[in-house]
Amino acid sequence: MGQGEKLFSRDDGAGVLRGLLRAVADFVYPPSCVGCGCKTQNGGALCVQCWAGVQFIERPFCEVLGIPFAHDHGPGILSAEAIAEPPPFERLRAATVHDGPARKLVHQLKYLDRTDLARLMASWMLRASDGTVAACDCIIPVPLHRRRFLARRFNQSAELARHLAVLSAKPFLASTLVRIKPTSRQVGLSARARKQNVRGAFAIAPGREADILGKRVILVDDVYTTGATVAAAARRLKKAGAADVTVLTFAMAISGPI
Ligand SMILES: [Zn+2]
Repeated sequence: MGQGEKLFSRDDGAGVLRGLLRAVADFVYPPSCVGCGCKTQNGGALCVQCWAGVQFIERPFCEVLGIPFAHDHGPGILSAEAIAEPPPFERLRAATVHDGPARKLVHQLKYLDRTDLARLMASWMLRASDGTVAACDCIIPVPLHRRRFLARRFNQSAELARHLAVLSAKPFLASTLVRIKPTSRQVGLSARARKQNVRGAFAIAPGREADILGKRVILVDDVYTTGATVAAAARRLKKAGAADVTVLTFAMAISGPI
């Protein structure tokens, strides 16, 4: 950025305008790494070191819950979790482990309004989708309740879903699934309390039933933690007649070593 610094010197007469233009350019092409804050060479979201630190989720993993396995147990093997408590969706896929630079990407998108990161994150999700996005009928984000949406101004899951739809040329249905119950935040709640919290939280918007009936749906969220929220949303989609539901998230929280 040596030359860029000179071009955007604030000492000349048009410094204010140039400063503004630079702020816009910096927003669109962030010059520093989201992972560590260092200046990136190419203006990308992550530097080479942080990029190498992203734990992409690859096979072998549980075919239902997408949880990575330390050892390859052969094709079609399920995790103990998927057998003990089969989820209300067909499968879950996540692009990365929710840790390190990937966790920082989620944080910046969600709490610092870095919606410019959503396209990159969606491209990783498309790769992790295992062909399910290519085969789907529509892409639906986990909705926020209207009150939360107004407070935060955007829904990070919808940003990811929107970019995923653009990348895959699939329909993005932002208002088919709605949140009718203002649930409290899931962070800090026990697994049981989380389930209770989101029970009856979702509904299909009036007149939108045909969007779901008999359709293969991709349900998008930013992070998979206990899965209580996406399970409640998937259950509602299934009740409305969805033929197949894939939950696709950017990151998956994994406890303990993989
Ligand atoms: Zn970095």
